[in-house]
Amino acid sequence: MRFIDECLKDIKDRGLYREFKFLSGPQSKYTLIGNKRVLLMTSNNYLDLCNDVRLKDAAEAAIRTYGVGAGGSRLTTGSYELHDQLEKKIADFKNTEAAILFNTGYMANIGVVTAIADKEWILFSDALNHASIIDGCRLSGAKIVVYKHCDMEDLRKKIKAYEGKKRCIVTDGVFSMDGDIAPLDKIVELAKANNLLTVVDDAHGTGVLGNRGTGCVEYFNLKGQVDIQIGTLSKALASEGGFVAGSKSLVTYLRHKARSFIYSTALSPATIAVSLCSLDIVKSEKDRRDRLLENTKWFQEELKKLGFHVLESNTAIIPLIIGSAEKATKLSEKLFEKDIFISAIRPPTVPDHTSRLRITLMATHSREELKYVLNGLKEAGMELGMI
Ligand code: PMP
Repeated sequence: MRFIDECLKDIKDRGLYREFKFLSGPQSKYTLIGNKRVLLMTSNNYLDLCNDVRLKDAAEAAIRTYGVGAGGSRLTTGSYELHDQLEKKIADFKNTEAAILFNTGYMANIGVVTAIADKEWILFSDALNHASIIDGCRLSGAKIVVYKHCDMEDLRKKIKAYEGKKRCIVTDGVFSMDGDIAPLDKIVELAKANNLLTVVDDAHGTGVLGNRGTGCVEYFNLKGQVDIQIGTLSKALASEGGFVAGSKSLVTYLRHKARSFIYSTALSPATIAVSLCSLDIVKSEKDRRDRLLENTKWFQEELKKLGFHVLESNTAIIPLIIGSAEKATKLSEKLFEKDIFISAIRPPTVPDHTSRLRITLMATHSREELKYVLNGLKEAGMELGMI
């Protein structure tokens, strides 16, 4: 198949070839790549819970009781009491009437958007929304109107320009590659004033934002004002699985209509047990969020002093913009030589000419470790003539 080889060559020529780095240790602030011990600065494991002994014990206990595979989709034989417990717990955490699990955040986004919208709908979508929202919008067949990233004036104009009975605004809560938070208060205001539905994917806010860590709805004090909240258990919550939280009727509707829910084998009991446990930890260990926030503020200030182009972000996702894909890869490789692991993010994940290092912090990174990273960035940046 020559077209495949040609395509791969083109990807390589443009500096966009992707390869795995295989971990041989746990997802924690230090991990192993082969035999090399590296400081992990690029994980979504914000609270550093992926290797927490309580979660591992919970998984083990669930395996002993329920075995390993779920064996079927939720509507056939794959529904366990544990799924029900977790859905209730998520609804309680998110302060909604009900919640429904999906196998991943990706599947939740696709399932929700396609279950709600069809060609009669108009979907207003932020220009930097996650790929899974974009894919859901495309699959739905609805008219997609992309508004400029977090630009409420542009959104307002587009809402006025595209009249219709069935309209919806869909946005990330925290943008995964830029780390900024959507102006949800303003989005909700616009939605209410114009009678639009609101869908928010809070993959990166869940477990992190707000006093209780429940996400961007709490952060903006918008209880009961966002129609559909999507999230994932795979980031701060250190597990796997997506979810949707909202009204009871929404959840029942999705059980009947969301194809990515209906036609896929349920999450395994061990995974559910981990999520149940990590939700308890997030509720009871606020100090983890506090430390993450402290680290974020301190690190961002120090990073700016080095002279790199750093995007203004108010979360633990800190984008260091390089521009060229090759240069971003080189910087990542130089850091790896210094035992620091930060992935280079390149198109198509980010727009052309905005390749970057996506630095993410964890609650457990110490000042010494962060200083080591800053020093590594300084040395590598100077060696490569970037600063
Ligand atoms: N939404 C956003 C904003 C994300 O960043 C991600 C993960 N990259 C997802 C959804 C998908 O979540 P999951 O990894 O659970 O499929």
